[in-house]
Amino acid sequence: MKIGVLALQGAFIEHIHKLRELGIQGSEVRLPQDLQGIDGLVIPGGESTAIGKLMRSFELVEPIRRFAARNAVWGTCAGMILMAKRIESGEPILGFMNIAVERNAFGRQIDSFEEDLPVAVLKEGDTRPFPGVFIRAPRLLEVHQPVHVIASLADGTAVAAVEGKWLATAFHPELSRDLRFHRYFMEMVRS
Ligand code: GLN
Repeated sequence: MKIGVLALQGAFIEHIHKLRELGIQGSEVRLPQDLQGIDGLVIPGGESTAIGKLMRSFELVEPIRRFAARNAVWGTCAGMILMAKRIESGEPILGFMNIAVERNAFGRQIDSFEEDLPVAVLKEGDTRPFPGVFIRAPRLLEVHQPVHVIASLADGTAVAAVEGKWLATAFHPELSRDLRFHRYFMEMVRS
């Protein structure tokens, strides 16, 4: 199995390291032809406006949309923003996932925090919460059928969702020690 990681800006190396820990070769995606031969794509965190601009100048927008129509895609943080059909006060960029998001949803004062998240889909008999690392994170405002929310903060804010082969997390599993989200995505790619 080969998983590509969009490598224009942001935390892509960290995803490649996590995939390597799981025995998967992660390849850097910078050009449309890099999408050939990969089975899944990770869109990392970073700055969604910067990644969006670079994606346009490298002519990746349409090729990624076409890739997503057939394959598994996981967006973390800025990646989730890029995938969303609706961005509160902004234009959608890839806009294929049926979610609405608010950027920098936790304010600029407390812009990063950690919170343990109960995530039922990761359980595999393991009930430990997942360590959520949030950095100037977005939140999910709305999810539309057939999307379902798979993780929320204690106050009810939705922070991760799945729609078919697409996974969106407002936090950064690549910055935690826990491999369970990467393993979960691997299974989505495989199925
Ligand atoms: N605040 C960033 C944005 O709006 C996302 C931050 C992140 O990816 N850690 O794009």
